[in-house]
Amino acid sequence: MFPFFSYSQFSLSLLFLSLFLSLPPVVPARTLPDPLTNLKAAQNNTWRSFAKFLDAGRGSHVNGMSELKKYFQRFGYLEPVSASNLTDSFDDGLESAVLAYQKKLGLTVTGKLDSDTVSQIMSPRCGVSDESRTLHATRHFVYFSGEPRWLRVGSAPIKLTYAFSPVHTIGNLPSSDIKSAFDRAFSRWSAVIPVTFTPASDYSTADVKIGFYHGDHGDGDPFDGVLGILGHAFSPKNGRLHLDGAETWAVDFASEKSRTAVDLESVATHEIGHVLGLAHSSVREAVMYPSLSPRTKRADLKMDDVEGVQALYGSNPNFKFSSLLESDTSSSWAVGFGRSWHSWATYWIMVLLMTLGLWT
Ligand SMILES: [Zn+2]
Ligand SMILES: [Zn+2]
Repeated sequence: MFPFFSYSQFSLSLLFLSLFLSLPPVVPARTLPDPLTNLKAAQNNTWRSFAKFLDAGRGSHVNGMSELKKYFQRFGYLEPVSASNLTDSFDDGLESAVLAYQKKLGLTVTGKLDSDTVSQIMSPRCGVSDESRTLHATRHFVYFSGEPRWLRVGSAPIKLTYAFSPVHTIGNLPSSDIKSAFDRAFSRWSAVIPVTFTPASDYSTADVKIGFYHGDHGDGDPFDGVLGILGHAFSPKNGRLHLDGAETWAVDFASEKSRTAVDLESVATHEIGHVLGLAHSSVREAVMYPSLSPRTKRADLKMDDVEGVQALYGSNPNFKFSSLLESDTSSSWAVGFGRSWHSWATYWIMVLLMTLGLWT
């Protein structure tokens, strides 16, 4: 059959072929965005000026670097000191802040303001500080200090109500779209923990109070216009969930063409995580990661989000981890591609071996 090629040689070749085919395909897990494109995407005026700090490191002195120090103070990486004491020098304190920031945000830890770091700093993000307490050294999810949570009485699920401010609203989306985006966001969390969310008829007595606010709105954490800070929420049992009314909130990027459009459902899901007691995660794919690029959706809970919230509330009895594992796998194109590609290769090798009578 194979005059120049014995069965043993052929089998050996097949073995090498199958080993080669079973290697992970050389496909990047995600396309890395051009850092400069990200830099340009940031619209917030103060944060946009941070582009000039690119490549700065210890010993650098750049005008306006005190503003960057204020940024790190705001998000919990530098001890608060009065603005007049902040210099424009890249000192030891700033280097420690950059190192801690890079570690927290899952960046390469260099201590320098490299392009990935500057790009990340300029990315739109949640206004809640990254300062929190890590309970599990092997996990990435974290809680607010003191682990505040809504309390469960007996074995019944916790029943929380929510309502939208009748005054602090936005005009670019119909309220039915806003409500259904929040509906989906709430149901993501209630699918995994024994907590239910139902709309309340009275805003003043609702557990979770949702509103769109502009600038300084009286809670000590002002919003800043287009992009920059997207929203914030308070830890249990405060229940306030605020979104920046200056954003172009979107529920469908096909109909909302703005370059600075922000996905409402993703930010709603993230802020509800804070309402439940979760702080920021360093897992980039997790809903509780602090930043979100414009025109990007990241609303599906990942393993890290689920483990974190279940450690606070226990599991919804109907929730199965296997369903999450499947969705985690299928959401990664590279992993999905690798698997189907490998299965395909194995199938054809088996067919070949069977045809040759080597597989019995
Ligand atoms: Zn947040
Ligand atoms: Zn607020």
